[in-house]
Amino acid sequence: MMADAGPDAMYVAGGTDLYPNMKRRQQTPKIVIGLAQLAELRAVDGKPTEGMVLGAGVTLSDLTGHRHIQHAYPAVAKAAELISTPLLRNMGSIGGNLLLDTRCNYYDQNYEWRQAIHFCMKKDGDICWVAPSSPRCWAVQSSDCAPVMVAIGAKVRLISSSGERLLPAAELYNDDGIRHLTKRPDELLAGIHLPRVNGWRATYWKLRRRGSFDFPVLGVAAWVRLAGDGTVEDARIVLGGVGSSPMRVAGAEKAIAGKKLTEDTIREASAAAYPVAKPLDNTDFAMSWRKDMARHYVAGTLRELAGLPPSFPPPGGDAPFGLPVLPA
Ligand SMILES: Cc1cc2nc3c(=O)[nH]c(=O)nc-3n(C[C@H](O)[C@H](O)[C@H](O)COP(=O)(O)OP(=O)(O)OC[C@H]3O[C@@H](n4cnc5c(N)ncnc54)[C@H](O)[C@@H]3O)c2cc1C
Ligand code: SF4
Repeated sequence: MMADAGPDAMYVAGGTDLYPNMKRRQQTPKIVIGLAQLAELRAVDGKPTEGMVLGAGVTLSDLTGHRHIQHAYPAVAKAAELISTPLLRNMGSIGGNLLLDTRCNYYDQNYEWRQAIHFCMKKDGDICWVAPSSPRCWAVQSSDCAPVMVAIGAKVRLISSSGERLLPAAELYNDDGIRHLTKRPDELLAGIHLPRVNGWRATYWKLRRRGSFDFPVLGVAAWVRLAGDGTVEDARIVLGGVGSSPMRVAGAEKAIAGKKLTEDTIREASAAAYPVAKPLDNTDFAMSWRKDMARHYVAGTLRELAGLPPSFPPPGGDAPFGLPVLPA
């Protein structure tokens, strides 16, 4: 069907991202191909000891409620559970979440609002209102599950009439607010392959204004494999919500590789997150505060994985899901 429909068509799964975007005329497909009734996309297969495959159409509610996902992949379950609201999680799929459009305060507005500012280069215009001299768009990668899939080393299977390919989740994303996916428009995301669980651990922390529901303005996914004596054999630390793609913090990974997770090594790793996080003024909260929070959140995730007591939020802070809300 997609091959016949050509470039004017788009897939839709739960529609919780695409339909609001169509109402705002940000995305304007002439043909919409529904995936919700494809049973093959709704299956969860495999075992944690061998690796699991999530059909792209599995709803976020089914994902968070799945016994193996809760126990063996708690970072995936937690990220999915922190997305939007129960009603939207009943409709929204994991595939749609990984392919979520990038977001920006100048773009996520109705047509008339955007027309009044002569649009922007992501849709219908030719300027970026966030960085007017910039040749590129800085709209923000805002999927909660994307940084987690990159951190745990998941792979995605893409299918089209010309063949199929399996690529690391990290390679699904481009650091560009407009061409943010390497997936071709004609490719169907069929499944997400989770690696087997063999001693690694991972977690995800999300920063947002409202604990009830909100897109992330910072997400930190951390993955470590520890030797028997607690030495870090391998690590991946990935930031979401502070760039146009999930961003690995190589300096933080290097700071803990071959060492134990101690107060000192965690401090060094979290400091490395500060220069990597480059939020701009196009989502919620002051960008300098979000940048600063990146180091606290990296420290928080690593402390959790090390089994150290949390140093953050400060005593008395309101902490839905173990996370802070606004500073006083
Ligand atoms: C009020 C509100 C709050 C939200 N809060 C959050 C949040 O906190 N965190 C978050 O991450 N998201 C949030 N979302 C976004 C959205 O609900 C989720 O990301 C959801 O998982 C999207 O899945 P979907 O199936 O509805 O995607 P759709 O809207 O169906 O699709 C999204 C995109 O993916 C494409 N697509 C979908 N499935 C496939 C496939 N199998 N193959 C190829 N292309 C495909 C579509 O063409 C479209 O471009 C929110 C949305 C709303 C409306
Ligand atoms: S970052 Fe710039 S070009 Fe991109 S959506 Fe925002 S205003 Fe538009």
